[in-house]
Amino acid sequence: MGRRRRYPELVIDLEKLKQNIDRINIKCSDFGVEVAGVIKGCTGLAECAEQFARAGCRFIASSRLEQLEPLRKTGIQTPFMMIRIPMISEAADVVRITDISLNSEIEVLKELNIQAGLQDKEHQVILMADLGDLREGFWDKDDLVQAALMVENDFHNLKLAGVGTNLGCYGSVAATPEKLEELVECAEAVEAEIGRELEFISGGATSTLPRILEGNLPSRINMLRVGEGILLAKDLQDLWGYDMNFMNRDIFTIRAEVIEVKDKPTYPVGDIMFDAFGNKPQYEDKGIRKRALIALGKVDYAFPEQLTVKDKGICIIGASSDHTILDVQDADRDIKVGDVIDLVPCYANLVYVTNSPNIEKVYI
Ligand SMILES: *Cc1c(COP(=O)(O)O)cnc(C)c1O
Repeated sequence: MGRRRRYPELVIDLEKLKQNIDRINIKCSDFGVEVAGVIKGCTGLAECAEQFARAGCRFIASSRLEQLEPLRKTGIQTPFMMIRIPMISEAADVVRITDISLNSEIEVLKELNIQAGLQDKEHQVILMADLGDLREGFWDKDDLVQAALMVENDFHNLKLAGVGTNLGCYGSVAATPEKLEELVECAEAVEAEIGRELEFISGGATSTLPRILEGNLPSRINMLRVGEGILLAKDLQDLWGYDMNFMNRDIFTIRAEVIEVKDKPTYPVGDIMFDAFGNKPQYEDKGIRKRALIALGKVDYAFPEQLTVKDKGICIIGASSDHTILDVQDADRDIKVGDVIDLVPCYANLVYVTNSPNIEKVYI
Protein backbone atom coordinates (compact mmCIF):
# COMPACT_ATOMS: atom_id res chain seq x y z
CA MET A 1 0.00 0.00 0.00
CA GLY A 2 1.51 3.30 -1.13
CA ARG A 3 0.31 5.65 1.53
CA ARG A 4 -0.75 4.95 5.07
CA ARG A 5 -4.52 4.93 5.26
CA ARG A 6 -6.23 6.21 8.33
CA TYR A 7 -9.39 4.34 9.31
CA PRO A 8 -12.30 4.77 9.49
CA GLU A 9 -12.56 6.35 6.10
CA LEU A 10 -15.36 7.25 3.72
CA VAL A 11 -14.55 6.46 0.11
CA ILE A 12 -16.47 8.62 -2.36
CA ASP A 13 -16.58 7.76 -6.05
CA LEU A 14 -16.99 11.14 -7.74
CA GLU A 15 -17.35 9.75 -11.27
CA LYS A 16 -20.27 7.54 -10.16
CA LEU A 17 -21.80 10.57 -8.45
CA LYS A 18 -21.48 12.58 -11.67
CA GLN A 19 -23.14 9.73 -13.60
CA ASN A 20 -26.07 9.68 -11.18
CA ILE A 21 -26.59 13.43 -11.47
CA ASP A 22 -26.44 13.16 -15.28
CA ARG A 23 -29.02 10.36 -15.30
CA ILE A 24 -31.49 12.24 -13.11
CA ASN A 25 -30.92 15.44 -15.09
CA ILE A 26 -31.67 13.61 -18.35
CA LYS A 27 -34.79 11.89 -17.01
CA CYS A 28 -36.07 15.16 -15.59
CA SER A 29 -35.30 17.21 -18.69
CA ASP A 30 -37.44 14.76 -20.71
CA PHE A 31 -40.35 16.22 -18.73
CA GLY A 32 -39.16 19.83 -18.92
CA VAL A 33 -37.99 19.66 -15.31
CA GLU A 34 -34.84 21.36 -14.02
CA VAL A 35 -32.97 19.91 -11.03
CA ALA A 36 -31.79 21.68 -7.92
CA GLY A 37 -29.04 19.36 -6.65
CA VAL A 38 -29.40 19.04 -2.88
CA ILE A 39 -26.06 18.58 -1.14
CA LYS A 40 -27.10 18.46 2.53
CA GLY A 41 -27.11 14.64 2.54
CA CYS A 42 -23.33 14.71 2.18
CA THR A 43 -22.88 17.76 4.43
CA GLY A 44 -22.12 19.91 1.40
CA LEU A 45 -18.69 18.35 0.74
CA ALA A 46 -17.14 20.64 -1.87
CA GLU A 47 -15.86 17.77 -4.04
CA CYS A 48 -19.43 16.44 -4.26
CA ALA A 49 -20.95 19.87 -4.83
CA GLU A 50 -18.57 20.36 -7.75
CA GLN A 51 -20.08 17.32 -9.49
CA PHE A 52 -23.54 18.91 -9.31
CA ALA A 53 -22.09 22.02 -10.90
CA ARG A 54 -20.22 20.03 -13.60
CA ALA A 55 -23.40 18.15 -14.43
CA GLY A 56 -25.20 21.42 -15.08
CA CYS A 57 -27.79 21.41 -12.31
CA ARG A 58 -29.96 24.54 -12.36
CA PHE A 59 -29.21 25.22 -8.67
CA ILE A 60 -27.03 23.83 -5.90
CA ALA A 61 -29.21 23.61 -2.82
CA SER A 62 -28.77 23.14 0.90
CA SER A 63 -30.68 23.62 4.11
CA ARG A 64 -27.64 25.25 5.74
CA LEU A 65 -25.77 28.40 4.79
CA GLU A 66 -22.57 27.09 6.36
CA GLN A 67 -22.48 24.40 3.64
CA LEU A 68 -23.04 26.85 0.79
CA GLU A 69 -20.79 29.69 1.93
CA PRO A 70 -17.43 27.90 1.47
CA LEU A 71 -18.48 26.76 -2.01
CA ARG A 72 -18.35 30.36 -3.21
CA LYS A 73 -14.56 30.11 -2.99
CA THR A 74 -14.37 26.96 -5.15
CA GLY A 75 -15.28 28.87 -8.29
CA ILE A 76 -18.63 27.09 -8.74
CA GLN A 77 -20.79 29.33 -10.96
CA THR A 78 -24.12 27.53 -10.35
CA PRO A 79 -26.61 29.65 -8.40
CA PHE A 80 -27.23 28.62 -4.78
CA MET A 81 -30.62 27.82 -3.28
CA MET A 82 -31.50 27.92 0.42
CA ILE A 83 -34.08 25.20 1.00
CA ARG A 84 -34.77 25.57 4.71
CA ILE A 85 -37.06 28.48 5.50
CA PRO A 86 -34.54 31.15 6.55
CA MET A 87 -34.13 32.25 10.15
CA ILE A 88 -34.99 35.94 10.24
CA SER A 89 -31.63 36.47 11.96
CA GLU A 90 -29.75 35.07 8.95
CA ALA A 91 -31.61 37.10 6.31
CA ALA A 92 -28.53 39.19 5.47
CA ASP A 93 -26.45 36.04 4.97
CA VAL A 94 -29.17 34.37 2.89
CA VAL A 95 -29.06 37.33 0.51
CA ARG A 96 -25.25 37.49 0.54
CA ILE A 97 -24.59 33.77 0.05
CA THR A 98 -27.55 32.49 -1.99
CA ASP A 99 -29.49 33.53 -5.07
CA ILE A 100 -32.88 32.05 -4.24
CA SER A 101 -34.65 30.81 -1.12
CA LEU A 102 -37.80 28.93 -0.15
CA ASN A 103 -40.10 30.96 2.12
CA SER A 104 -43.31 30.85 4.12
CA GLU A 105 -43.27 33.89 6.46
CA ILE A 106 -44.09 37.50 5.55
CA GLU A 107 -41.83 38.81 8.33
CA VAL A 108 -38.86 36.96 6.86
CA LEU A 109 -39.68 38.10 3.32
CA LYS A 110 -39.83 41.67 4.58
CA GLU A 111 -36.39 41.31 6.15
CA LEU A 112 -34.95 39.63 3.02
CA ASN A 113 -36.26 42.58 1.02
CA ILE A 114 -34.54 45.07 3.35
CA GLN A 115 -31.26 43.16 3.30
CA ALA A 116 -31.34 42.78 -0.49
CA GLY A 117 -31.79 46.54 -0.71
CA LEU A 118 -28.82 47.14 1.57
CA GLN A 119 -26.68 44.79 -0.52
CA ASP A 120 -27.96 46.25 -3.77
CA LYS A 121 -29.10 42.83 -4.94
CA GLU A 122 -32.23 41.17 -6.24
CA HIS A 123 -33.01 38.02 -4.24
CA GLN A 124 -35.37 35.43 -5.73
CA VAL A 125 -37.99 33.71 -3.60
CA ILE A 126 -40.18 30.66 -3.97
CA LEU A 127 -43.27 30.59 -1.73
CA MET A 128 -43.98 27.21 -0.19
CA ALA A 129 -47.43 25.64 -0.02
CA ASP A 130 -48.09 22.99 2.64
CA LEU A 131 -50.23 20.36 0.93
CA GLY A 132 -50.60 18.16 3.99
CA ASP A 133 -47.11 16.94 4.89
CA LEU A 134 -47.26 19.51 7.72
CA ARG A 135 -43.71 20.80 7.78
CA GLU A 136 -43.07 24.17 6.09
CA GLY A 137 -45.35 26.20 3.88
CA PHE A 138 -48.51 28.31 3.81
CA TRP A 139 -51.45 26.22 4.98
CA ASP A 140 -54.06 28.77 3.93
CA LYS A 141 -53.88 29.18 0.15
CA ASP A 142 -55.33 32.70 0.31
CA ASP A 143 -52.46 33.66 2.63
CA LEU A 144 -50.05 32.35 0.01
CA VAL A 145 -51.67 34.42 -2.72
CA GLN A 146 -51.63 37.53 -0.48
CA ALA A 147 -47.93 37.00 0.28
CA ALA A 148 -47.22 36.57 -3.42
CA LEU A 149 -48.99 39.86 -4.16
CA MET A 150 -46.97 41.61 -1.47
CA VAL A 151 -43.67 40.29 -2.85
CA GLU A 152 -44.70 41.20 -6.37
CA ASN A 153 -45.94 44.70 -5.62
CA ASP A 154 -44.22 45.93 -2.45
CA PHE A 155 -40.91 44.14 -2.02
CA HIS A 156 -38.91 45.70 -4.83
CA ASN A 157 -35.65 43.93 -4.02
CA LEU A 158 -37.26 40.49 -4.17
CA LYS A 159 -38.26 38.60 -7.30
CA LEU A 160 -41.20 36.22 -6.95
CA ALA A 161 -39.71 33.27 -8.84
CA GLY A 162 -42.36 30.68 -8.13
CA VAL A 163 -44.20 28.42 -5.75
CA GLY A 164 -43.15 25.07 -4.35
CA THR A 165 -43.99 22.30 -1.97
CA ASN A 166 -42.30 19.59 0.04
CA LEU A 167 -43.84 16.18 0.63
CA GLY A 168 -42.79 13.01 2.41
CA CYS A 169 -40.45 14.52 4.99
CA TYR A 170 -42.57 14.79 8.14
CA GLY A 171 -46.09 13.60 7.36
CA SER A 172 -44.90 10.82 4.99
CA VAL A 173 -47.46 12.12 2.48
CA ALA A 174 -46.92 10.79 -1.06
CA ALA A 175 -46.38 13.17 -3.99
CA THR A 176 -49.31 11.83 -5.98
CA PRO A 177 -50.34 13.44 -9.29
CA GLU A 178 -53.40 14.82 -7.41
CA LYS A 179 -51.26 16.49 -4.71
CA LEU A 180 -49.05 18.05 -7.35
CA GLU A 181 -52.09 19.29 -9.29
CA GLU A 182 -53.01 21.14 -6.09
CA LEU A 183 -49.62 22.86 -6.25
CA VAL A 184 -50.23 23.82 -9.88
CA GLU A 185 -53.61 25.25 -8.81
CA CYS A 186 -51.84 27.37 -6.15
CA ALA A 187 -49.41 28.61 -8.78
CA GLU A 188 -52.23 29.47 -11.16
CA ALA A 189 -54.12 31.30 -8.41
CA VAL A 190 -50.99 33.40 -7.86
CA GLU A 191 -50.54 33.96 -11.59
CA ALA A 192 -54.14 35.12 -11.95
CA GLU A 193 -53.52 37.79 -9.31
CA ILE A 194 -50.09 39.00 -10.45
CA GLY A 195 -50.92 38.82 -14.14
CA ARG A 196 -47.85 36.93 -15.29
CA GLU A 197 -46.48 33.42 -15.44
CA LEU A 198 -44.22 32.18 -12.64
CA GLU A 199 -40.80 30.90 -13.64
CA PHE A 200 -40.74 27.90 -11.29
CA ILE A 201 -43.21 25.41 -9.91
CA SER A 202 -41.00 23.36 -7.60
CA GLY A 203 -42.70 20.02 -7.08
CA GLY A 204 -40.70 18.47 -4.27
CA ALA A 205 -37.74 16.20 -3.61
CA THR A 206 -36.71 12.59 -4.22
CA SER A 207 -40.20 11.60 -3.11
CA THR A 208 -41.54 13.21 -6.31
CA LEU A 209 -39.15 11.28 -8.61
CA PRO A 210 -41.72 8.44 -8.93
CA ARG A 211 -43.80 10.85 -11.01
CA ILE A 212 -40.89 11.17 -13.44
CA LEU A 213 -40.29 7.39 -13.44
CA GLU A 214 -43.98 6.74 -14.11
CA GLY A 215 -44.38 9.65 -16.51
CA ASN A 216 -47.33 11.19 -14.66
CA LEU A 217 -45.89 14.47 -13.40
CA PRO A 218 -48.32 17.36 -13.96
CA SER A 219 -46.90 19.19 -16.96
CA ARG A 220 -46.53 22.59 -15.31
CA ILE A 221 -44.16 21.28 -12.59
CA ASN A 222 -40.75 22.34 -13.88
CA MET A 223 -38.35 21.94 -10.95
CA LEU A 224 -37.44 19.23 -8.46
CA ARG A 225 -34.96 19.48 -5.60
CA VAL A 226 -33.18 16.11 -5.47
CA GLY A 227 -30.69 14.84 -2.91
CA GLU A 228 -31.07 11.22 -1.74
CA GLY A 229 -32.26 9.96 -5.12
CA ILE A 230 -28.93 11.04 -6.59
CA LEU A 231 -26.53 10.41 -3.70
CA LEU A 232 -27.79 6.95 -2.71
CA ALA A 233 -30.79 6.08 -4.93
CA LYS A 234 -31.72 3.70 -2.14
CA ASP A 235 -35.09 4.79 -0.75
CA LEU A 236 -37.02 4.46 -4.02
CA GLN A 237 -35.51 0.99 -4.54
CA ASP A 238 -35.71 -0.41 -0.99
CA LEU A 239 -38.81 1.35 0.38
CA TRP A 240 -40.90 2.19 -2.67
CA GLY A 241 -40.05 -0.81 -4.86
CA TYR A 242 -38.92 1.13 -7.95
CA ASP A 243 -36.21 -0.38 -10.14
CA MET A 244 -33.29 2.00 -9.58
CA ASN A 245 -30.71 -0.25 -11.24
CA PHE A 246 -30.00 2.51 -13.77
CA MET A 247 -28.37 4.40 -10.89
CA ASN A 248 -25.12 3.74 -9.01
CA ARG A 249 -25.91 2.72 -5.47
CA ASP A 250 -22.31 2.41 -4.30
CA ILE A 251 -20.99 5.97 -4.44
CA PHE A 252 -20.23 6.02 -0.70
CA THR A 253 -18.40 3.25 1.18
CA ILE A 254 -17.48 3.39 4.86
CA ARG A 255 -14.32 1.40 5.65
CA ALA A 256 -13.35 0.42 9.19
CA GLU A 257 -10.58 -1.65 10.74
CA VAL A 258 -11.00 -4.85 12.74
CA ILE A 259 -9.51 -4.47 16.24
CA GLU A 260 -10.57 -7.75 17.89
CA VAL A 261 -11.66 -11.20 16.67
CA LYS A 262 -12.83 -13.76 19.23
CA ASP A 263 -15.30 -16.58 19.78
CA LYS A 264 -17.78 -15.39 22.42
CA PRO A 265 -21.28 -16.18 23.70
CA THR A 266 -24.12 -14.22 22.08
CA TYR A 267 -26.03 -13.80 25.34
CA PRO A 268 -24.46 -11.45 27.95
CA VAL A 269 -23.08 -13.20 31.03
CA GLY A 270 -24.23 -11.58 34.31
CA ASP A 271 -27.14 -9.44 35.53
CA ILE A 272 -28.49 -7.46 32.54
CA MET A 273 -29.09 -3.77 33.38
CA PHE A 274 -28.74 -0.97 30.77
CA ASP A 275 -26.51 -0.46 27.72
CA ALA A 276 -24.27 2.57 27.01
CA PHE A 277 -27.24 4.67 25.87
CA GLY A 278 -29.57 3.80 28.75
CA ASN A 279 -31.59 1.21 26.84
CA LYS A 280 -32.49 -2.31 27.92
CA PRO A 281 -32.06 -4.29 24.68
CA GLN A 282 -33.16 -7.86 24.02
CA TYR A 283 -30.40 -10.39 23.34
CA GLU A 284 -30.89 -13.61 21.44
CA ASP A 285 -28.85 -16.62 22.58
CA LYS A 286 -27.29 -18.20 19.48
CA GLY A 287 -24.52 -19.95 21.41
CA ILE A 288 -20.83 -19.28 20.83
CA ARG A 289 -20.11 -17.30 17.61
CA LYS A 290 -17.02 -15.84 15.99
CA ARG A 291 -17.29 -12.08 16.35
CA ALA A 292 -15.21 -9.11 15.23
CA LEU A 293 -15.03 -5.60 16.65
CA ILE A 294 -14.46 -2.72 14.25
CA ALA A 295 -13.20 0.71 15.25
CA LEU A 296 -16.16 2.95 14.62
CA GLY A 297 -19.50 3.33 16.36
CA LYS A 298 -22.72 5.23 16.83
CA VAL A 299 -20.85 8.52 17.20
CA ASP A 300 -19.81 8.10 13.55
CA TYR A 301 -23.02 6.87 11.91
CA ALA A 302 -25.77 7.05 14.59
CA PHE A 303 -27.94 4.13 13.44
CA PRO A 304 -26.29 0.66 13.30
CA GLU A 305 -29.50 -1.07 12.22
CA GLN A 306 -29.50 0.96 8.98
CA LEU A 307 -25.93 0.11 7.97
CA THR A 308 -25.17 -2.92 5.82
CA VAL A 309 -21.94 -4.87 5.55
CA LYS A 310 -20.71 -5.49 2.00
CA ASP A 311 -19.29 -8.95 2.75
CA LYS A 312 -21.88 -11.70 2.43
CA GLY A 313 -22.23 -13.67 5.65
CA ILE A 314 -21.24 -10.81 7.98
CA CYS A 315 -23.88 -8.96 9.95
CA ILE A 316 -23.96 -6.21 12.55
CA ILE A 317 -25.13 -7.44 15.94
CA GLY A 318 -24.71 -4.29 17.95
CA ALA A 319 -22.83 -1.07 18.58
CA SER A 320 -21.84 1.43 21.21
CA SER A 321 -20.36 4.92 20.80
CA ASP A 322 -17.01 3.85 19.35
CA HIS A 323 -17.35 0.11 18.64
CA THR A 324 -19.40 -1.95 16.22
CA ILE A 325 -19.79 -5.70 16.85
CA LEU A 326 -20.00 -8.02 13.84
CA ASP A 327 -20.93 -11.69 13.58
CA VAL A 328 -18.28 -13.06 11.20
CA GLN A 329 -18.82 -16.78 11.77
CA ASP A 330 -20.34 -17.29 8.31
CA ALA A 331 -18.02 -14.88 6.43
CA ASP A 332 -16.58 -16.01 3.08
CA ARG A 333 -13.10 -14.96 4.22
CA ASP A 334 -11.17 -15.56 7.43
CA ILE A 335 -11.53 -12.24 9.26
CA LYS A 336 -8.39 -11.18 11.17
CA VAL A 337 -7.23 -8.24 13.27
CA GLY A 338 -6.15 -5.42 10.93
CA ASP A 339 -8.58 -6.42 8.16
CA VAL A 340 -10.83 -3.74 6.71
CA ILE A 341 -14.60 -4.12 6.56
CA ASP A 342 -16.69 -2.19 4.00
CA LEU A 343 -20.08 -0.82 5.03
CA VAL A 344 -22.83 0.78 2.97
CA PRO A 345 -24.59 3.78 4.57
CA CYS A 346 -28.23 4.77 4.26
CA TYR A 347 -29.21 8.46 4.18
CA ALA A 348 -29.21 8.92 7.95
CA ASN A 349 -25.78 7.27 8.25
CA LEU A 350 -24.40 9.37 5.38
CA VAL A 351 -25.42 12.63 7.05
CA TYR A 352 -23.38 11.65 10.11
CA VAL A 353 -20.27 10.17 8.46
CA THR A 354 -19.85 13.08 6.07
CA ASN A 355 -20.22 15.48 9.00
CA SER A 356 -17.68 13.70 11.20
CA PRO A 357 -14.13 15.08 11.41
CA ASN A 358 -13.06 11.62 12.67
CA ILE A 359 -13.71 10.04 9.30
CA GLU A 360 -11.18 10.62 6.55
CA LYS A 361 -12.83 11.42 3.20
CA VAL A 362 -11.07 9.65 0.33
CA TYR A 363 -12.08 10.63 -3.22
CA ILE A 364 -11.66 8.23 -6.12
C1 LIG B 1 -33.94 17.95 2.05
C2 LIG B 1 -34.84 18.68 1.15
C3 LIG B 1 -34.91 18.32 -0.21
C4 LIG B 1 -34.16 17.15 -0.77
O1 LIG B 1 -34.66 15.94 -0.24
P1 LIG B 1 -34.18 14.51 -0.78
O2 LIG B 1 -35.15 13.57 -0.19
O3 LIG B 1 -32.79 14.31 -0.29
O4 LIG B 1 -34.25 14.55 -2.26
C5 LIG B 1 -35.71 19.08 -1.03
N1 LIG B 1 -36.41 20.13 -0.55
C6 LIG B 1 -36.38 20.50 0.74
C7 LIG B 1 -37.19 21.67 1.18
C8 LIG B 1 -35.59 19.79 1.63
O5 LIG B 1 -35.57 20.16 2.92
